[in-house]
Amino acid sequence: MSTETTYAELTRWIQRVHALGTVGELLGWDEQVNLPPGAAEQRAGQQAALAEAAHGAASDPRLGGWLTQLEGAAGLSADQRAVVQNARKDYDRATKLPAEFVREKATQDSRGYHAWAKARAADDFAGYAPVLAKNLELVKREASYLGWAGREYDYMIDKHDPGMTAEVIGRLFGELKRELVPLVREIAASKVKPRADALRGFSTEGQQVFLREVTERLGFDYNRGRIDVSLHPFCSGTGSDVRMTTRFKEHEPLDSLFSSIHETGHGLYEQGLPADQLGTALGIHAGMAVHESQSRLWENQVARSRGFWQGFEPRLRAVFPAQTSGVSTEELYLAINAVSPTLIRVDADEVTYNLHIILRFELEKKLFTGELAVSDLPGAWRTAAAELLGLTPPNDREGVLQDVHWSGGAFGYFPSYCLGNMLAAQLWYRALALRPKLEEDFARGDFTWLLGWLRENIHTQGRRYDALELARRVTGEELSPRSLLRYLRERYGALYLR
Ligand code: ZN
Repeated sequence: MSTETTYAELTRWIQRVHALGTVGELLGWDEQVNLPPGAAEQRAGQQAALAEAAHGAASDPRLGGWLTQLEGAAGLSADQRAVVQNARKDYDRATKLPAEFVREKATQDSRGYHAWAKARAADDFAGYAPVLAKNLELVKREASYLGWAGREYDYMIDKHDPGMTAEVIGRLFGELKRELVPLVREIAASKVKPRADALRGFSTEGQQVFLREVTERLGFDYNRGRIDVSLHPFCSGTGSDVRMTTRFKEHEPLDSLFSSIHETGHGLYEQGLPADQLGTALGIHAGMAVHESQSRLWENQVARSRGFWQGFEPRLRAVFPAQTSGVSTEELYLAINAVSPTLIRVDADEVTYNLHIILRFELEKKLFTGELAVSDLPGAWRTAAAELLGLTPPNDREGVLQDVHWSGGAFGYFPSYCLGNMLAAQLWYRALALRPKLEEDFARGDFTWLLGWLRENIHTQGRRYDALELARRVTGEELSPRSLLRYLRERYGALYLR
């Protein structure tokens, strides 16, 4: 076969594998949004059958043959080489793990979740420790099957953020930590406090109307996506079928609004990927850090800005006249930008959130090097929480047992959240340099310039570049925490440290 024909065969096959993956995602979405309670077992069977078919397609020997031919071929374009390289990574992951290992890991992942849920309810870390130790052992074995022996934590990081390493993250987080810890202390000591009870009794119907207007105005295409209700908000799907979810709390209207804007950022990214390349490296996202940069940029830099609220405050007051009548513009803005250190990551504001991530990264890294034993995690967690957040968890439920991630073997995932915040701030200042009156656009309800700029520079680039290279190309600078620190100081300093 000629190189061109082989390349065409390869991409056709990759897109087929990807299509099967999206069907699995759709089943997962349906499970969280629609599934009748009695159907759980039947659904598990459907998922398993589909996963088997998808794995069969992803590990088809013909794929291996095409890849070998293309890797040795001259004359591939840079884009084509990116597609081949990414396909090789996927193919190796699908073929190099022994079937017995895959079965053992799948069983352990689901066992891990239940063990974690039970341990958290009972505040019993000791009962959970052997499960966690087993998870750690399994991911290390996975790394060595794939040729990463001795660099197991880097393997886990690369799995979520291609090209990223523990060394790079350690340097970035160290720099961030030095200035962020004192900033959080200063804000926590501020006399300015948001009114905790400012926003009460917001009907679900009204919230639905308002958030639909907001997300549509930001640019989410409801002809190619939808939003529904689930217990935990998420965004799945890609291209022309993007599914977001949210949840409604009458006394916390900002929770559903901001989580929806966050998911909208993810959704805009997925809707902006090149439609004809879906599934290849030219039509998939660049990794979790870049994905998170998109959700955070819209959620924080955009939707917590003065300009944004100059545009939307009148509309919020029109939809909820009684609920907002006793709340001043300044009180509303302060509620939107409330900062208060907490022990729980998912409740954290955008300033302290980063410290929660640094804590997890530092512990994970030591778990992988062996500097820290699983049994010593609770104590190490308490020490780190006191040092970073200025708070000591009274129990493990509010400490090491709070997150689900490690129970399913998802190590190396946490750093993406903070890297995403760094990249978001860096993109924000680049956008502002190109268009200084960006917030005036927002005040008019106009987000088209910003979305257009992200489409061109991030969304349509797919996975051509990793997060570090993308930062370099789009902002002209190396990825660093400087923009994030500047942004946090400018926005929150103006509110709390005046
Ligand atoms: Zn997110």
